[in-house]
Amino acid sequence: MITIDGSEGEGGGQVLRYAAALSLITGEPFSIENIRGGRAKPGLMRQHLTALEAASAIGNAEVSGLSVGSDALTFRPGSIAPGEYHFAVGTAGSTCLVLQAVLVPLMLSAAPSRVVIEGGTHAMAAPPFEFLAHTLLPVIEKMGPRVSAKLERHGFFPRGGGRILVEFEPAPLRAVELTERGEYLSGEVEAIIAGVPFDVAERELGAMRKVLADWPEEAFTSRQLSANEGPGNALLATARFEHVTEVMSGFGKLGLRAEKIGKTTAKRMAGYLASGAFAGPYLQDQLLLPFALARGGAFTSVKLSQHTRTAMDLIERFTGTRFRIGEREDKKLLVEIER
Ligand code: ATP
Repeated sequence: MITIDGSEGEGGGQVLRYAAALSLITGEPFSIENIRGGRAKPGLMRQHLTALEAASAIGNAEVSGLSVGSDALTFRPGSIAPGEYHFAVGTAGSTCLVLQAVLVPLMLSAAPSRVVIEGGTHAMAAPPFEFLAHTLLPVIEKMGPRVSAKLERHGFFPRGGGRILVEFEPAPLRAVELTERGEYLSGEVEAIIAGVPFDVAERELGAMRKVLADWPEEAFTSRQLSANEGPGNALLATARFEHVTEVMSGFGKLGLRAEKIGKTTAKRMAGYLASGAFAGPYLQDQLLLPFALARGGAFTSVKLSQHTRTAMDLIERFTGTRFRIGEREDKKLLVEIER
């Protein structure tokens, strides 16, 4: 039984999802206390609860301590059962983060699966659907398993109500070297709005154009969804390279100026473009589990995030796999699996 202090490192929900996934894959039970101890409102929230329920359902696990607000739980994995599943967060809690708990176990299982998740699809501090579909899943496909995702309905904070469908064709993970992003192909920005004034999109795009000044005028577009999918606003900047696509996002929030959202999102994209690295700040922690299980490979990335450091420690505890971090001559960070 592995024991985890949930207040260590990043101290948020990610440690729960990665621990559940690792437990299902390795068969090692775990207990965690001080759940989300690094956050202002600690304990399990709906999104984390749904992620653990999802992991428990696909892995026939026995879990105690599963309730909203719980600060400790124990997870005993059973065998992974691929199949058809439907999970609903019930709030705008992120569908893509619920998926984080079951993604790797289902892509390595013995048969195909089909999973529907309802909740938020475009909310702060979580991957938007487009990051999942265009950034993460194509990298997974390079490693063997085929996982495809479809956005059936948008879900914004605070209403939620979004829906994604994820289909899995499992295959063993192979080690890959993802050190070069390849030729730059194109860049585009889309401001999505649903049931909020149209000038929000215009103002966001205006601020983005100033930072991404060499992107052509036609790269900046807006899309209005039907008001009943909202209210909501998401800003998505996508850069396509030969070997990787990066999606940077910003989300509208009451009291946050549209210009500020545009500028911050554009600066994040500009930082990624300037870095020359393969994996941006979010892909970084999300690649660790597949890479560790492939038992080899390497990727270049930007400065290590606290999410990444926390995930590395957790992966080492469950699997014994260690990561080596180095700096290449061109100053890019290199994350390697130690064999
Ligand atoms: P908490 O509420 O405790 O912060 P959480 O489960 O909502 O918990 P984290 O533990 O902070 O969130 O984990 C967030 C995860 O979402 C990380 O894997 C991170 O890489 C990813 N993520 C956050 N923002 C983005 C983004 N804009 N694009 C892609 N991925 C993101």
